[in-house]
Amino acid sequence: MTCESATSSLFAKTEPSGASDVCPACEASKFKPSGLYHLDCLACCARLVASAYPNRRAASAMMAVVKRHIARSALTFGPADVTESVRQLVEKRR
Ligand SMILES: [Zn+2]
Repeated sequence: MTCESATSSLFAKTEPSGASDVCPACEASKFKPSGLYHLDCLACCARLVASAYPNRRAASAMMAVVKRHIARSALTFGPADVTESVRQLVEKRR
């Protein structure tokens, strides 16, 4: 799932409307590693948590933030999806 389907009213103005499934924060991170994170976006949540590795304490703190956001918002993905994406991101770096 992408940001587009998870768009909340809060971010509606900045989201592309149907033309692209790339979220602005993901797009920005391609040019600047320390970029933005859009918590309604699975890829951004994964990047946020993965950015804390190999510091597992920091990573689990980030994961807690993501989980809290997921619990509060009706998102199209769950904590398990984030965990899986993080695993893939961290493995890719090795
Ligand atoms: Zn994103």
